[in-house]
Amino acid sequence: MCFEVKERDLGGRIGALRTRRGVLETPTLMPVVNPVKNTIRPAELKDDFGLELIITNAYIILKHYGREARDVHEITGFDGTIMTDSGAYQLLIYGGIDTTPEEIVRFQERIRSDIGVILDVPTGGFATKQEAEHTVKETIRRAKESISWREDDTMLWAGPVQGGRYLDLLEFCARAMGELDFQIHPLGSPTQIMEEYDYATLVDMIATAKRALPPERPLHLFGAGHPMMLSLAVALGCDLFDSAAYALFAKDGRYMTQSGTMRVDELEELPCSCPICAKRDAEDFAEVTKEEREGLLARHNLYVVVEELRSIRESIREGTLWEHVESRCRTHPKLYCGLKRLLDYREYLELNDPLVNRVVRGLFFYDEVSMSRPEVYRYKERIASRYSRPKGKDILLLVPMPEEKPFTKSKICNSVKEFFRDREDVHVCFYGDPFGVVPSELSETFPLSQFESAIGLGKAWRESAEAFISTKGYKKVFILGQELKGAKMINSLEELKRVLDPLGSA
Ligand SMILES: [Zn+2]
Repeated sequence: MCFEVKERDLGGRIGALRTRRGVLETPTLMPVVNPVKNTIRPAELKDDFGLELIITNAYIILKHYGREARDVHEITGFDGTIMTDSGAYQLLIYGGIDTTPEEIVRFQERIRSDIGVILDVPTGGFATKQEAEHTVKETIRRAKESISWREDDTMLWAGPVQGGRYLDLLEFCARAMGELDFQIHPLGSPTQIMEEYDYATLVDMIATAKRALPPERPLHLFGAGHPMMLSLAVALGCDLFDSAAYALFAKDGRYMTQSGTMRVDELEELPCSCPICAKRDAEDFAEVTKEEREGLLARHNLYVVVEELRSIRESIREGTLWEHVESRCRTHPKLYCGLKRLLDYREYLELNDPLVNRVVRGLFFYDEVSMSRPEVYRYKERIASRYSRPKGKDILLLVPMPEEKPFTKSKICNSVKEFFRDREDVHVCFYGDPFGVVPSELSETFPLSQFESAIGLGKAWRESAEAFISTKGYKKVFILGQELKGAKMINSLEELKRVLDPLGSA
């Protein structure tokens, strides 16, 4: 097994990918390196940016250096792990290439690539369903065939998943590829979808592929390299990213930040303190040659991406990936649509999310989107399906969730205990968002007393509370301060005492 998952949060994971050049920590970025000419030398990527993995293009090497090309590590001057792409992208853009699936597989072995990619047929973002179907069938056919051409079993092979926005085809392709002998699966064709900022569709594509592929194989999202969207993709289970964006944006005078892109010539101040920006003012970018500016911008952009990935990995370790994704997704409405779409896959997230993160931290709730995080979903699901009220507690008293935590130490809870200390049958539960109904005996368990919320009482709790009342078989139900179906509203504990007293003396 070349991939080991070390830690998880949501669908995201910290993994160790073993290649013949060493072990790499994921999620990580592979900068796209041109085998012929680069803004940043590949050796610098390792020495200055700490990147151990790059991706370059075997087809361009074949065209430029011919069939007798040397070791790809020599050509690029990079002694870390190198993945080579096969030319499928050129096929997508230019419509045809001058090699065969067999030649390019054998060629990648020849140039000592550490991770090879078969020559698949990209679906692209604009294919009709019929065209997409053809790309899927042909990709699977080539994938099967390619296995017999391999000779070097120390090399890893990537089997791309095609189908694009046609999720049924994508799922079919993922299942078929998952059954074949590949170690990594790139998700093909998201570039055009990302260029349209269609993050909701991207979420559908990633989630569909992930659910159909073997979980122990890393997923590589082709062509995704903007820092603002990386955490969303990681939360769905993407482990590898390749990107030329840092260099392409630099060429175009664009300055990346964690929350978006700016034009460097419109900046008055540099909102970054990477090694490039720390020593410069915004005007310095205008005073250098175009080529120098491109080099500076490419380095800055890459520092921003690297920093974001470090921060994402740390969020996974801390169990705060949800908060990380939420804050990034609020930087653009289309990303926010992606976050909302993520909620359609909460069951999948819930399955992957560890029950307890290693470091127990409080959860933050801002609005109804935060309320869909797996911890809430899991809690509500368990209360509905597994919880039964304690024996003898026949009278349910619902009181609003207090601000104080744990709830059992709150003023309201103390008053209830005081009022009904001679009664064994009153069961106190707390109502309110985000958790709906919290029985007092559970209120000290994680995360019920470790959260901060800006929602207040909210509205969603009503549905949970009504379901709770109708399924848990209480003889009488009272609720303090709210109208609720199935419960009698009381305005004070004194009122309840008056109502209950005749019962108590009976
Ligand atoms: Zn910078």
